[in-house]
Amino acid sequence: MNTCDVLVIGAGPGGGNAALQSAKRGLSTILIEDHPAIGTPVHCGECISEIACQNLGIKLPDHVVSKEVQGIRVIFPDGTEKCLTEEGYVLEKHLFERWIADEAVEAGASMHLNHKLSSMERIEEDGKFAGWMCDGKGENFPIQAKIVIDASGVAAICSKIVKPDGDKPLNEMGKVVAGMQYEMLEVPTDGYLDFYIWPEYAEKGYLWMIPKCDGRANVGLVTEDRPRAKKALDEFIDITHFKELEQVHPPWKEKGTHAFGGTIPISGPFVNTHYDGLMLVGDAAGFTSPLFEGGSHLALKSAVYAAETAAAAISEDDLSGSRLAEYTKLWKDEFPPYDKILKGKNALFNLTDDEMSLMARCFPNEMSDMGARGKAMVALRLLIRRPGLYFKRIVPAMLAFGYSRAKFYGW
Ligand SMILES: Cc1cc2nc3c(=O)[nH]c(=O)nc-3n(C[C@H](O)[C@H](O)[C@H](O)COP(=O)(O)OP(=O)(O)OC[C@H]3O[C@@H](n4cnc5c(N)ncnc54)[C@H](O)[C@@H]3O)c2cc1C
Repeated sequence: MNTCDVLVIGAGPGGGNAALQSAKRGLSTILIEDHPAIGTPVHCGECISEIACQNLGIKLPDHVVSKEVQGIRVIFPDGTEKCLTEEGYVLEKHLFERWIADEAVEAGASMHLNHKLSSMERIEEDGKFAGWMCDGKGENFPIQAKIVIDASGVAAICSKIVKPDGDKPLNEMGKVVAGMQYEMLEVPTDGYLDFYIWPEYAEKGYLWMIPKCDGRANVGLVTEDRPRAKKALDEFIDITHFKELEQVHPPWKEKGTHAFGGTIPISGPFVNTHYDGLMLVGDAAGFTSPLFEGGSHLALKSAVYAAETAAAAISEDDLSGSRLAEYTKLWKDEFPPYDKILKGKNALFNLTDDEMSLMARCFPNEMSDMGARGKAMVALRLLIRRPGLYFKRIVPAMLAFGYSRAKFYGW
């Protein structure tokens, strides 16, 4: 029987960091990952901001960084370009995830690949919650843990298994969007991430060119129209300068189609992110930034809070849901209000292409630091040109961009 203080499910950025932070706090920690290797297949555009790294105290080693970038350039339907300048990195994401997991192992965690959690049984001693008996596919199961941290991404496996209320799972699964991309070669770049808000191709989503080293780039999209995702991306490529460029397998992928991607939760944080002996982090908790769907920064940060809470709860010998409620309080105090940003995103996608472009033309070239006066000026300029836009909630739509900055966990 394997026993531990903390069992972490999934070795993405959330799980790797949850294991690292738990082990650093002296907790006996096991990290399990379903796949035979960490980080592949890659399901990420691979960018992370410098602000995120500072916020997390991460010093990225050279081998995980593909390219340093200047910020985001948003390209609106009529081609108007506006910038959100803030520095960051495009990672070799699988190497980044492997590096974090290696750091966790170095700090004392055990790691088991090819281990897939499929069941959890509650353990009680003298009527008091005492941990979880976890089972699944993999030779090190069963594993008994005082606390489980669910970092299983969009699978959100523990929410599906744990049924506190009869047959009802801990959380109902929400909506997801599809994300898909190609690696391309000889892609022109000036060091900005290009985000195209072109609803014709990416419904309630966007398309991107994320530059990497040696002229490589990820060219992709997220869209709510999941069945059309690949076709829409191919059509977008066909009408842009990307058409002439070569699509290749990324270095970690040897065969199969060139396309790679995944799904992203978009219903916001789960109703319950803690329970007896259980905390949900990252995508498994529904933490993604509403407009540009970035989730690594949120996953990495929520992992810190979960590990902190686990260490305190274990030291007090109180693994109950009410003790772990501290975790939910910590992230709620820190992360920006999802509903407010979502309202802005919905207002943005309620605009026609023409209205969106008009709004963009009223923005200053640099959108990051408009300040209250700047925003008021833009709103005034817009409403003079098209007063009807007031009723289409143009102000929340504008604010959605501000909330997508790194300091609000946008990337
Ligand atoms: C196409 C695309 C582009 C994106 N671009 C960006 C971007 O540029 N920047 C950004 O910040 N975010 C981006 N995201 C979102 C980002 O990838 C996620 O938010 C982030 O990876 C979440 O980290 P996580 O650790 O919570 O989950 P994941 O990274 O999804 O990791 C979960 C891990 O759990 C494992 N797992 C699942 N079930 C089990 C189980 N039962 N047992 C054991 N292991 C299990 C999985 O194999 C996986 O390794 C993008 C997403 C997509 C799909």
